[in-house]
Amino acid sequence: MSRKVLLVEDDRVLRDSLREALSIEGYELKTAASLADARAQLEHLALGQSIDLVVLDLGLPDGDGQALLSQLRHTSSTPVIVISARDAEGQKIQLLDQGADDYLVKPFGIGELLARMRVALRHRGHSAERALLVYRHGPLEADLRARKVLLSKVEVHLTPTEYALLARLVRQAGQVVTHRQLLTDVWGAEHVDQTHYLRLYMGQLRAKLEVDTADPQHLLTEPGVGYRLAESDTTD
Ligand code: CA
Repeated sequence: MSRKVLLVEDDRVLRDSLREALSIEGYELKTAASLADARAQLEHLALGQSIDLVVLDLGLPDGDGQALLSQLRHTSSTPVIVISARDAEGQKIQLLDQGADDYLVKPFGIGELLARMRVALRHRGHSAERALLVYRHGPLEADLRARKVLLSKVEVHLTPTEYALLARLVRQAGQVVTHRQLLTDVWGAEHVDQTHYLRLYMGQLRAKLEVDTADPQHLLTEPGVGYRLAESDTTD
């Protein structure tokens, strides 16, 4: 069954090009050009069909897409990917904290949007016990069931904190995880401001897992926002 995507975007040119690209990929696309239009569509759909994913622009003629995000989060867990020309770190963090699954800064490549959509759909589609347990990306392999990390088939020894940090990223592989989320989940809520912990342990993890720490391929930095583990090659 094809996945239903609601695209909320007032730029007609972008809407048309995304419509074409997404339909080639087999998505069924609904579009809205304003907040009011999006709300009307979601209300209408609530009667029967459901939307699998929302792609949301922020600058809309009748308001800010952020308003729709918070409204959606109150009523559903439908994944939301924000697309925006705004590049402010503070706003990205706010959107992620509000429950956006990811964001893309315009202009972006369609391939990148499709990849983020796949990841968002996969994460939401998994119940807790079906979360990603085996991560593979190039030479890096992490098996959360066996608590094993391999690089080019050779086991890598990680300290408990390094492992906890990697495991947290594996659970959301392909998606950005904010500094706050990582600090809260690995060190505890009382350490939420200790970003130097994160820098230190990320440096150690990269030293053990990256071929070139100056050009990381797995543990990617999202400047000012957090970190993203590259998307897994497997979905076991
Ligand atoms: Ca816009």
